[in-house]
Amino acid sequence: MKISKVQVILLQKKLTSAMNISRGGFDVRTHAVVKVTTDQGITGLGEGVGDALMIKSIIDGKMGDLAFGLDPMSIESIRKNLIDSQVYLERKGSVICAASGIEMACWDIMGKVLNVPVYQLLGGLYRDRLETYVSDVYWEKDPHAMAKNLERILKKGFKTIKAHLGCESPEADEKRIDALRCTAGNETNLMIDLNGGYTPQESMVASRLWDKFNLFWLEEPLNPNQVDALADFRSRSKLTIAAGENEFRLHGFKQLFDHRAIDVAMPDIGRVGGIQEARNICALAESYGIPVSPHNFSSGILLAATIHLMAATPNTWLLELDSSNNAIYEELLVAPLEISNGLVHVPDQPGLGVELTDEIIRQYGVE
Ligand SMILES: [Mg+2]
Repeated sequence: MKISKVQVILLQKKLTSAMNISRGGFDVRTHAVVKVTTDQGITGLGEGVGDALMIKSIIDGKMGDLAFGLDPMSIESIRKNLIDSQVYLERKGSVICAASGIEMACWDIMGKVLNVPVYQLLGGLYRDRLETYVSDVYWEKDPHAMAKNLERILKKGFKTIKAHLGCESPEADEKRIDALRCTAGNETNLMIDLNGGYTPQESMVASRLWDKFNLFWLEEPLNPNQVDALADFRSRSKLTIAAGENEFRLHGFKQLFDHRAIDVAMPDIGRVGGIQEARNICALAESYGIPVSPHNFSSGILLAATIHLMAATPNTWLLELDSSNNAIYEELLVAPLEISNGLVHVPDQPGLGVELTDEIIRQYGVE
């Protein structure tokens, strides 16, 4: 079997409410869906997570040609050709995101050809339900508006919830955490994501001021390039530190682990180099005793890939869910997501169990 075509389909959704994080506000979301077609007519879907236009131009400009003629059932050959050899000069960034999307689509193809779900290809089912957390409480000027959003999620039965802060100082954001904790009560696990918005000094102030709120974890307090500073912060803070959504490949994570910079690793399958690379990162994390909670904040295709990886990989923990209806999410799944008591049931359709219908393209497709 050979790859005969690679296309990037851009899907875009205008948001009903603005998403504010420390990096700015967003009113649209764009997904770079990668469709790989084979000479036998079987197609697979993947997703590159990052700058969607950049990913499209990389695949249209060159990477699609590199993939042409390769066997999608030979994942390591795909990885060698798209990541290790030809793009030797590109260690991180959108090139790796683009390759991640193609690699993901090849797993989807392999599952369809062999008529098994992708988790079966990854060693089989380790767990059939996944613990979850919901991550779409965004920064708002009014602390009570944030608390109201958290309340909406609590009512759906989720017990672990993440809020985005860092648009203002630790002192100013303290009243937002206070409002969130009051609404959440002590039974809810509350995480704070700073999206790299604080300096090391601000992070230390936040760590001291926010200690009383019993946070479940603090995510990406610093610029992701500041690995030494993150390690120093972690050694001085009592908080559990999660990070990694802006890191690439196995080697990037080894650096985070070697520096003792994180307590929880957050590789994104659509960014790190694909499903196999994410598997490799999980195995490495295991050797350091670090749990992996994959970053999963994009379309239903990344969601499906993340579910299959977590279903087959013991040291993964907590599936990230987006309950905002701002992403093109469940529409892309062949079977609706089954959630009970905050647990996601692992689906068993062949491949990733995703589908890009004409209706989705008509509704969300952009040139
Ligand atoms: Mg994050």
